[in-house]
Amino acid sequence: MLNRRTFLKTGAAVVPVSAALGALHPASALSAEFAAGGITAGPEPILIPLPVRLGPVDPSKEPWQRRIRRVGQSNMTEHDPAVMNIEEWADYWHSAQVDIVFISVTGILAFYPSKVKFHRHGKFLHGRDFFGECVTAAKKRGMRAVARMSPDLNWPDALAAHPEWAMRNKDGSVQHNTDEPRLFKTCMFSTYMDDYIPSVMREINSLYDIDCFYTNGWPPIGSLPDCHCAICSKLPPSGTPAYWRVFNDRVFELWKKYDAIAKEKSPENFFFANLGGNVRCGPNLDRLGSITEWFQADNQGRSYPTPAIWECSLQGRVCTAIMDGKFATNVTGAYSTGAVTWRNASKNADETRIWLSETLASGMAPYLHFVGSEDGFCEDRRWQKTGADYFRWTTRHDRHLAGRRSIANIGVVMGQSTQLLYPGPATVRGRGYMHETTQGIYDALLRGRFAFDFVHEDRLEPERLKKYRALVLPNVAMLSERQCRQIRDYVSAGGSVLASFETGLYDENLQPRADFGLGDLFGIHKAGEVVGTNGNAYYARIEHPDAASHHPILAGFSNTNWLPGAQNRVPLRPVSDPVLTVVPGFVRYPPELAYPPVSHTDEPAVVLRESGSSRLAYFPGDIERTYWLTGHGDLLRLLHNTITWLTRGEHLVAVEGPGFIEMLCWETRPGYAVHLLNYTNPDAQHGWLQAIDPIGPQIVTMKLPPGIRAKSVEMLRAGETVKFTQQDEVLRFTVPRIESYEVAAVTVS
Ligand SMILES: [Zn+2]
Repeated sequence: MLNRRTFLKTGAAVVPVSAALGALHPASALSAEFAAGGITAGPEPILIPLPVRLGPVDPSKEPWQRRIRRVGQSNMTEHDPAVMNIEEWADYWHSAQVDIVFISVTGILAFYPSKVKFHRHGKFLHGRDFFGECVTAAKKRGMRAVARMSPDLNWPDALAAHPEWAMRNKDGSVQHNTDEPRLFKTCMFSTYMDDYIPSVMREINSLYDIDCFYTNGWPPIGSLPDCHCAICSKLPPSGTPAYWRVFNDRVFELWKKYDAIAKEKSPENFFFANLGGNVRCGPNLDRLGSITEWFQADNQGRSYPTPAIWECSLQGRVCTAIMDGKFATNVTGAYSTGAVTWRNASKNADETRIWLSETLASGMAPYLHFVGSEDGFCEDRRWQKTGADYFRWTTRHDRHLAGRRSIANIGVVMGQSTQLLYPGPATVRGRGYMHETTQGIYDALLRGRFAFDFVHEDRLEPERLKKYRALVLPNVAMLSERQCRQIRDYVSAGGSVLASFETGLYDENLQPRADFGLGDLFGIHKAGEVVGTNGNAYYARIEHPDAASHHPILAGFSNTNWLPGAQNRVPLRPVSDPVLTVVPGFVRYPPELAYPPVSHTDEPAVVLRESGSSRLAYFPGDIERTYWLTGHGDLLRLLHNTITWLTRGEHLVAVEGPGFIEMLCWETRPGYAVHLLNYTNPDAQHGWLQAIDPIGPQIVTMKLPPGIRAKSVEMLRAGETVKFTQQDEVLRFTVPRIESYEVAAVTVS
């Protein structure tokens, strides 16, 4: 049997660690202690005990929405009243054991005989109460109903009567929908949102037995509106911190208003809206998390610009950071999402399944979505079996699949302001800049099999941070004085921090600081403006010839004086005894000139500090983003070594074995659930999964809290129990095989 540790032992005996690293499949998940060459950690993982278990709760006392485990949506088209077989539709979702279905009210086209002015009846409605019939069919089968609305678009007759409802361009012209130019875009600051939408909601409340309201198309996700109507032209310019504040105020004003209207029907009802955009969500996530009962993540599938297989679980980690155990779900598009879309054709079944698995693994409830019901209940019905089989499997394991608390010892600070408002450094302007940064750190953390959470920039209170051994700030450029102080307090309390590049060089208003907001913490001073790359990027010179023994972050590097630096860097003033120094970049072409004008400088390429139990590391380069752009294993190793040094090689849960996986671990009501997603696949970074390449055994170890005994360990996907040992609180078992997903469910007493 080849497990990772035996592989490493044999591998290390024959070749240097660096060569072994390079010889592996590029997707091989090398754990932190291996990447560190066994220097900061021994051959066995250093396990720290899991936290004391949470007290029992009575599920029947929880709000109904927190008990939802499966969500279904046939997104209704104007044509559906003419073609959809309501009984077949309701039977399907019932057979898939969903708890709640979305049914379209809309706002663009009424699916019931609405009397609200400008709520245009669909042309196949013919006076029929299609919405009401669907609600009745769902309720008859014990499913709840979401009344789905779309406040984002309306028709020319509404525009003629209410020109003030439209979003406008700078020249005053109306903004129209690009796919269907007859529809105009409604402005969220206009009375369309204050008058028209509430009228529709109250009409629905008066007629139907619904459980909650939902708006699609508002608020905007992933970007901010750019409107020049009479109201908006008085607001600060879109894309600025000042605009973001008024945008947030308006979102929360409307959100509360709609929620109050929902509660006019019943105090248990509520309003929620379409969200997503992961770390780049439009509305402020801290404020959203405090008011929404349901986080609906509209992250339906991979696309050409966002090809990474982990987009859904990344979103789930964002939800975990802000929802504090409230309900979250991610919409899996069972139809063909992507650069070229087919709204009514199934996507690859393996791709649908891994998206549902990522949803579950990252703490959300699975949600299946298809558009249109031509020919009764879809011309293409292949997605239905994929979804129903998956959902039925989950029903057998709901208690293990509902996570109560994530098990993680690293917190990755998501700078939502930076993600939305920071334009990138002067050398690389572009919206993609922070996306690449996020992808780089995410990829590196997965490959290191680190247990991490996201932490929102507005949630840095000691109470939230105390569970983390280290915080990671991947170019969190914008930090307020308060946030800087909170990070200092975290370090004073013994926490460790890794930060990179322009972290803290801007305040919350995107005003540049003369020096780093956290400069005192890291002992760094800015010595100049950002330096980019003129062909050949800078190097980091290893200052001590015996690198690995000099500092653990250099473990595994030998036979070289230079390491790659990064694409961009902030020049720093010299520090004493630097571990790496900058060798400035030069031209790439012609090769005659591709040599350093200066071979040795005293400009630090990393700054490391220790104070009590805190360890601090700052990289002046955009190292995680450059890793993402290049895949350079040295940058990956540097990141892994540094995170391992910061966390002293400690693990809450260690998973060792071959392959590239994403690991998430949860405390559950019965015990613990270790979720393992298999990304060892040629399609992990392009297109969709064409097939699954199973991977072999993974050894899981975790140290249970004192007095807790494991009773059983079950592989939920494989449907088998496995043997385990528990010695000195250390639970050890082997996951024999992972197809695309496995959940090791530990029941404890
Ligand atoms: Zn406007």
